[in-house]
Amino acid sequence: MIFSLASRILRTVDPKCLANVAWNFGFKGARSVMLYKKRMKQGIHFPPFLYISILNSCNLRCQGCWVDVEAPRNAIDLDTLNRTVNDAREHGNSFFGILGGEPFMHPELLDFLAQHPDSYFQIFTNGQLITEKVARALRQLGNATPLVSIEGSSTVSDERRGNKDVLNRTLRGLQNCLEQKLLTGVATSLCKTNIDDLLNEVWLDKLISMGVHYTWYHTYRPVGPKICGELALTPEQIKDVRRFIVTQRAKKPIAIVDAYYGHDGHSLCPMATGISHHVSPGGDIEPCPIIQFATENIKDSRGVYETFTSSAFLKDFRETAAQHTRGCIVLERPDLVKQLAEKHGAKDTTQRQTAMAEIESMTPRGSQWIKEENIGEIHWMYWLAKRFFYQDFGVYQKDTTR
Ligand code: SF4
Repeated sequence: MIFSLASRILRTVDPKCLANVAWNFGFKGARSVMLYKKRMKQGIHFPPFLYISILNSCNLRCQGCWVDVEAPRNAIDLDTLNRTVNDAREHGNSFFGILGGEPFMHPELLDFLAQHPDSYFQIFTNGQLITEKVARALRQLGNATPLVSIEGSSTVSDERRGNKDVLNRTLRGLQNCLEQKLLTGVATSLCKTNIDDLLNEVWLDKLISMGVHYTWYHTYRPVGPKICGELALTPEQIKDVRRFIVTQRAKKPIAIVDAYYGHDGHSLCPMATGISHHVSPGGDIEPCPIIQFATENIKDSRGVYETFTSSAFLKDFRETAAQHTRGCIVLERPDLVKQLAEKHGAKDTTQRQTAMAEIESMTPRGSQWIKEENIGEIHWMYWLAKRFFYQDFGVYQKDTTR
């Protein structure tokens, strides 16, 4: 698997993009995780992976979206984005996740990327605004990988994303990325309406034949103003997803990403481990994208490193989550999210100002924590990568060690 995956990437990705991902994400990304582990021992938590929602606007209306896509545009200005990345880089970070809304609707996105040639960016996008011209500009920059979301067949895509001809328009953007030899990924938020179409070898083979280099399987999070709870996967389906991923990783020449399990199959929450936190379109520092409460903002004069590392709110969220679940505190214990937000007098970071009502209306449900068994990595490369750079870093208490 490794040789065919590596040769495919070497043959189909622009050399400048390759050098960038190897150095700014591979080497410097690993170094930022080692630095994070070292700081943790001193009780300092600064996430090596910052996820920034640079604006709220989007051209689609997805089921279960928690972003204020219908509200007036709220975008982080270029100066604030640059200050945030510069400060984080000064403290050892080099990788940033760029989200929205739809990031390519931000008029300064390409200027922003151009001002950080020694950092690497993963752009979470629906792909529809990636024209040939935009893809060519990304190739010249070389420091970003588009992660294009596909949510199902043509019919399901229109239904899931609240628009017409969604899949074709996304595939056009994806094709532009591949033709410009960008390192390109496809993400899916697995739910009841797309799991049969997208969690199988036929789909992975289709992605490989299209030239896609990696895929990221998320599991649908029923949150936000319109939660569509009926789309959420069953515990059995969540187990199927995990088994499928570890099995196909050892077979298919396509890299498969997940964010919820360590090398030994123990489930984890990226927020609770502190490896990532989120910045909202308003600049608010949130524990993670679906916890829409905050007590700090990146515009804070102290700078992001000082603001993150001194946040009692983030610390309390990480520790409370790790004490109570190896899964998702929002899905399994919305009561604790409410408690923590009230305890810290956290502000509702949404423009719709209904985050607390949404949390109060949630019914606890299962998440990625598969209590009865740990489905560990089969392939040594993934086992090693996770063992040293992506696991729970020992944050979980005794009674959540199972
Ligand atoms: S709280 Fe839930 S959604 Fe947020 S990072 Fe943890 S598992 Fe993911």
